[in-house]
Amino acid sequence: MDGAPSPAAFTAMTLNPPLIHITEQSHGVLIALMYAAKDNFTGRAIYDHPLCFLHPHAEACLRKAIAAARGFGLQLQILDAFRPQAAQEALWAVAPNPDYIADPKKGSNHTRGVAVDLTLIGADGQALDMGTPVDTMHPASHHFHAAHSSAIQLNRMKLLTIMLEAGFLHHPREWWHYQLPDAHQYPLVDGHVFMTCVATTGGHGLATA
Ligand SMILES: [Zn+2]
Repeated sequence: MDGAPSPAAFTAMTLNPPLIHITEQSHGVLIALMYAAKDNFTGRAIYDHPLCFLHPHAEACLRKAIAAARGFGLQLQILDAFRPQAAQEALWAVAPNPDYIADPKKGSNHTRGVAVDLTLIGADGQALDMGTPVDTMHPASHHFHAAHSSAIQLNRMKLLTIMLEAGFLHHPREWWHYQLPDAHQYPLVDGHVFMTCVATTGGHGLATA
């Protein structure tokens, strides 16, 4: 034995490394995590702290997307990224709709750290009009929904182009959601271990209220 990891162990290490902390300063991106404030579909804050994490593979693609958005004179604004399992359960408890929320028993790609919700901010600092607010559980949120104006379709196309070019896949029912190809290959990140890990640095714990 030469001490090298087995193929299975190597795969595990590749797919389940520590998550990467993303900040506005480190990544040149805007962050407004919707579940860290009351202004989301649950009507309450789900996260205790607005901290943003992604799997390194997703973080690498996000860096490309951030640069591509800049090429359009736009900025990406992250609305959600890694989501602990307990948070997924809290969302499911309010809206158990598998068209828009992953059943926590199956696990969300957000809990794998390989999905991100985001929008685009224009040079004037205003969010581009995407036709619906984020998390609107209605066909109007679907890509290419015919009721929207050409300006809205173009705004969505900009986000779609940026994210596809960076290596993400879109979700046909959610203009704001993108994830890595083969997202299900990635393991669910153990939120308990993760939150214990980040607690010492002022982590991403769930709201206690
Ligand atoms: Zn999402």
